[in-house]
Amino acid sequence: MLTTIIYRSHLHEHVSYEVLKEMVVAANIKNGQAGVTGILLFNGTHFFQLLEGPEEGVAAIYQDICADNRHYNLVELLRDYAPSRRFGKTGMELFDLRDHRREEVLQAVFDRGTSRYQLIYGDRALQFFQTFVEDSEKENYFEIPPGDTWEFIADEQPVSLPAKALDSLAECRFAFQPIVDPFARQIVSLEALLRTPEGGSPQAWFAGLSGEDIYAADLHSKKVAFALAATLRLGAQTLSVNLLPMTLVKVPNAVEFFLQEIRANGLVPEQIVVEFTESEILSHLDEFTQAVKLLKGAGIRVAIEHFGAGFAGLLLLAQFQPDRIKINRALIQDVHKSGSRQAIVQAIIRCCTSLEIAVTAVGIETAEEWMWLESAGITHFQGYLFAPPSLSGIPAVAWPEKREDLPS
Ligand code: C2E
Repeated sequence: MLTTIIYRSHLHEHVSYEVLKEMVVAANIKNGQAGVTGILLFNGTHFFQLLEGPEEGVAAIYQDICADNRHYNLVELLRDYAPSRRFGKTGMELFDLRDHRREEVLQAVFDRGTSRYQLIYGDRALQFFQTFVEDSEKENYFEIPPGDTWEFIADEQPVSLPAKALDSLAECRFAFQPIVDPFARQIVSLEALLRTPEGGSPQAWFAGLSGEDIYAADLHSKKVAFALAATLRLGAQTLSVNLLPMTLVKVPNAVEFFLQEIRANGLVPEQIVVEFTESEILSHLDEFTQAVKLLKGAGIRVAIEHFGAGFAGLLLLAQFQPDRIKINRALIQDVHKSGSRQAIVQAIIRCCTSLEIAVTAVGIETAEEWMWLESAGITHFQGYLFAPPSLSGIPAVAWPEKREDLPS
């Protein structure tokens, strides 16, 4: 199927414009063999390229482009399918924007068009050309350094739960994972993640229960979470626990039980954040909103997790306003390479900033993901890059340190 990819990237400082021209000549031969055509724009620092052709050919050429170290911070902006080529005749033509007036370039690009209808009727690809030529999205280009600019070093000892605290865990256990502010080198919160007695996942634990039993079990498991957390001496850190939204609705006096267990373990409600999964809230929104009122009335804060995974996340922000949202790993993964993920994350951040809702990014595995998200304004992170969940207490956090040994 005829496929279109558009990306933008940043030319490496050590590559001259002359090399670039030679590169285009070489690329034209390769592209011709794969039946790939398109347009390449260069504005002195950034490339913008449209590739079109058979799916396999475009994918193979794009893969080579991604691996080319003459440019960096490559962000895919569009991957789409079309009935015919927009620029079928040109091979791969290079426009240096510094040599032309903006309107001329757009007109020249338009003149190369071979697909009359797509280019006339509000084509997305053409809109991308326009924003690149007009520089109107430039404030959203976050130029992040290579991942190996940072080392992640755990320089403190983990905090272990006393053996006595682990003895009584017959029904369930909890793994603790820090939520961190890497630049402040601070653990801002600990999340208690449910585990089976053997250390299995929350899904495995819930699989052993049937019907409505899951709600009471979910609630009562928090007794264990609070007791373990109490032995970890949280100080100013908050403790995040998860609940199925319906737990508050279905279990009689759930909020009272919850508060009682918080206090019985020497914790205070203001120190607790309850996380609910976005998709599960929606089916009983009214009852759930009522239960959240009770939690908030008692001083407990509420977070929506897996935000962005479901279809109605933004609507939830209008119907009840959480103190925090956690952006799902599905949106975080490779965010530095994906224009669509970047646009969604930026929209979420803007929306939450207007509503004074704090944002945490979950599932950070690479330095590049973290750097891009810091540039976008997020300060709180949870992920294997910093610390995995630990069954035996608070794991040591690997804090980022700038490497001194890199060539400048
Ligand atoms: P969550 O609250 O979003 O927890 C974060 C999940 O992401 C955890 O999975 C954690 O192990 C995983 N994670 C953290 N960092 C990374 C990373 O860098 N990469 C990847 N791939 N994963 C990472 P876990 O422990 O399997 O929990 C899954 C979900 O189960 C939790 O998502 C939460 O929604 C739910 N859950 C956990 N504990 C409870 C509980 O006590 N009650 C209820 N109802 N649900 C719970």
